[in-house]
Amino acid sequence: MSGKDVLDTAQKQLKEVVQKLDIDEGLYKILAAPKRQLKVNFPIVFDNGEVEVFEGYRVQHNTSRGPTKGGIRFHPDVDMEETTALAMWMTWKCAVANIPYGGAKGSVKVNPKRLSKREVEKVTRRFTNEISILFGEREDIPAPDVGTNAQVMAWIMDTASMQKGHTVPGIVTGKPLILGGSEGRVEATGRGVIVTAEEGAKIHNMSLHGAKVVVQGFGNVGSVAARLAQDNGATVVGVSDARGGIYNPKGLDVHELYYKYSGRDGGIRNYKEAEQVSNEELLELDCDILIPAALSSQITHKNADKIKARMIVEGANGPTTPDADKILNDKGVLVVPDILANSGGVVVSYFEWVQDLAHFFWEENEVNNKLARIMRASFASVVEMMHEKDCSMREAALMIGVQRVTQATVLRGIFP
Ligand code: NAD
Repeated sequence: MSGKDVLDTAQKQLKEVVQKLDIDEGLYKILAAPKRQLKVNFPIVFDNGEVEVFEGYRVQHNTSRGPTKGGIRFHPDVDMEETTALAMWMTWKCAVANIPYGGAKGSVKVNPKRLSKREVEKVTRRFTNEISILFGEREDIPAPDVGTNAQVMAWIMDTASMQKGHTVPGIVTGKPLILGGSEGRVEATGRGVIVTAEEGAKIHNMSLHGAKVVVQGFGNVGSVAARLAQDNGATVVGVSDARGGIYNPKGLDVHELYYKYSGRDGGIRNYKEAEQVSNEELLELDCDILIPAALSSQITHKNADKIKARMIVEGANGPTTPDADKILNDKGVLVVPDILANSGGVVVSYFEWVQDLAHFFWEENEVNNKLARIMRASFASVVEMMHEKDCSMREAALMIGVQRVTQATVLRGIFP
C-alpha cells in the first residue's frame, strides 16, 4: 500500500464513523484536517565525507485533548501521506485509552540499517533540530517507532536539552531507564496485547489459559506477547520472524526461544522441536488466538478466509486490510483492533512522561497494574459501544476515539 492508500483508508474510516455518530460536517472538517504538517530537508555528512540530503516529516493531527504524542519512524518508504494517517490513528488511540494527548507522527526517509551508528546519530540530531519548532514537553512528545529505539530517543532528548540549556527528559518517551525512562515500557505493548487477549477471550467463552496461540513477529511486541501468553497458561504453537516461522501443535517453549535462539545466528528457525513453516502458512495455522505483531497488511482478502483462529489481537499497526476485516467479521472472527490492542505502549509512554514531569519514578508493579487497569477499562468501553451500535470492535473503538475528540472540540469551542 502506498502512503496515499494508507491515508485514504484512515480518511474513509473517519468518514464512516462520523456518519454513524451523526457528527456534523463542520466538526468532520476539523477532525479530518491535520493541525500541522512540517516537511524538512536536511544534509548529513557521511563518515566517508560524502553529503546526502534527507527528507523528514512531523505531523500533529489534533490537539483538542492535549499535547501531541507519536513515534518517529526511520524507513525508506515513508512519506507525508502515510505519516499523516499514522498521526490520525494516534489521535484515536490516545482517545480510546483516555490519556490526555492528541496524535502525532514523525518520519525520516532513510534506511538506518545502511548507516553507521554515528551517521544514525547525526540524522537523529539534525532532524530533531529541524523540527524543534514543534517539539516540546508540553507541546509534542515523540517516542520510538519502526527503525528507531531507546538510543535514538536518548539523542533526541540530548539535542533538545542542548537547545534549552537544561535537561528536559519529558520531551521524549521510550528512553533508557537511566535517562528517565519508565520501568515496564519495553514490555508495555506486548503486555497490553495479552490483557486485551484475556478480555477478548471472555467474549468468545474461551480463556487465554489453555488456548492455542500463534504469534507473527518475534520482536519487541511479539516476543513479549508470546512469553506472557505462555506464562498465562496458553500453548504457543507457532511463532515467526522475518526469516519465517516454526510450528509445534504441542507447544513451543517461547522463553527458551527468546533467550537461546532469537537474535542469534539462524534465529528462531534453529529451534529443533518444531517444523518450519512460511509466514503465509503461519497465519493459517490451527489455533484459537492469532497475534499479528510484525508488519501492516498481513491479513488480506487473499488469506482472510483461510484463517482458523477464532480471535485476532492486533499487536502490529494495520495488520488487517479493510476487505479482510469484512471477511473475518462475516466468519465470526473477533478482531481486537490495533488502536485498542497495541495501545499499551503509548499508555506507558504517558506514565513515563508523567514521571519525568514530576521527577518521581514508580516501581514496575505500579506501572503494570495501572497499565492493566487502563487497558481493561478501554476494552470495556469499546465492548459497550460495540453492543450499542451493533458493529465490529474496530468500528466501536474508532467511534469511541472520534466521539471523545469531538466532545473535547465542542467543549473548547472554535477560536476566536
Ligand atoms: P520489532 O522491529 O521489534 O519486531 C518486528 C518483528 O517482525 C521482528 O521479529 C521481525 O523479524 C519480524 N518481521 C519482519 N518482517 C516480517 C515478515 N515479513 N513476517 C514475519 N515477521 C516479520 O518491532 P516491534 O516494535 O515489535 O513492532 C511490531 C509492530 O507493532 C509494528 O507494526 C509496530 O508499528 C507495532 N507497534 C509497536 C509498538 C511498540 O511499542 N514497539 C507499539 C504499538 C505498535
